[in-house]
Amino acid sequence: MRKTALLVTALIILLLAITCSYDPVRKVRDPYFQNIIVVGIDGGGSLFDNGDAVTDEFNDFFSTNGNIFYNYKCETPSISAQNWGAYLHGLTPEKLEVNNLKIASVRFTDTFHPSVFQVIHDAAPDFTLASICHWTPINYGLIETSAGVYKDNDIRFRFETYTDHEVRDHVVEYVDANMPTLLFVHLDDVDETGHSKGYGSPEHLEAIRMNQDLILDMFAGYDPDTTLFIVVTDHGGTPDGEHGGDTEPEMRITLAIRGKGLNISAFDGFEYHPRDLAPIILTALGIEVPSYMDGHCPEGLFTTI
Ligand SMILES: [Zn+2]
Repeated sequence: MRKTALLVTALIILLLAITCSYDPVRKVRDPYFQNIIVVGIDGGGSLFDNGDAVTDEFNDFFSTNGNIFYNYKCETPSISAQNWGAYLHGLTPEKLEVNNLKIASVRFTDTFHPSVFQVIHDAAPDFTLASICHWTPINYGLIETSAGVYKDNDIRFRFETYTDHEVRDHVVEYVDANMPTLLFVHLDDVDETGHSKGYGSPEHLEAIRMNQDLILDMFAGYDPDTTLFIVVTDHGGTPDGEHGGDTEPEMRITLAIRGKGLNISAFDGFEYHPRDLAPIILTALGIEVPSYMDGHCPEGLFTTI
């Protein structure tokens, strides 16, 4: 009897483990790129009023095999957790159900809606993954502990551990030693300056320019022939230092993308949202997009040349 009860319990646990998760996907082709680096600028909006804080060097970098788009909108509401969650899980905020406080204090354990890191780890365990963040709730509450991700830093209830300059230094050092398949980087000085001095203020614009210098330092460690470079922003903000609403300056976001063989015209007529980043990353790595994701990769974005 006791043996039967144990067996039944074991079977139930096994069944739960099988049914309480997403339908796994496969790696179906060779990756288009050996490495992907995604840098997120918190509060960078559309950098800032339609790209007027974009530096010549940053613009030059993305004018080869790439483009910078300023006309897209973030997910609603224009808040960090909801948008970084959308970027990293391929989901709308309604489905992901995260907020800034939750991700600072609760680990992410929803196996129906795993992060892009978990999906990659399950489909291609040999791909190496890393996330280096100024705003630590992304690492603590959006990326699973089971996803095989090197996290710097991963601390509960700490919103800040580094300045953006320190993040840059950590990234340069880590990339030099490890060159991960996928690296996500989060910078936060721009949002902090937007809150304290106003979004679009001279100080905010200066912080945006400084971020671009730091990003180009990080990119310098990569081979442009074999790397997909992406820079995104999660939301903008108002002149009096607020965001969360649905006004244009709060909702506008930037997508900068560069990679050899990229077919930029694939974005023609494509209404890009943060939820599309995870499918874009998966497609670039030759991995199927799981059915639970709301986002899409623009058709024909990647080509082999
Ligand atoms: Zn903010």
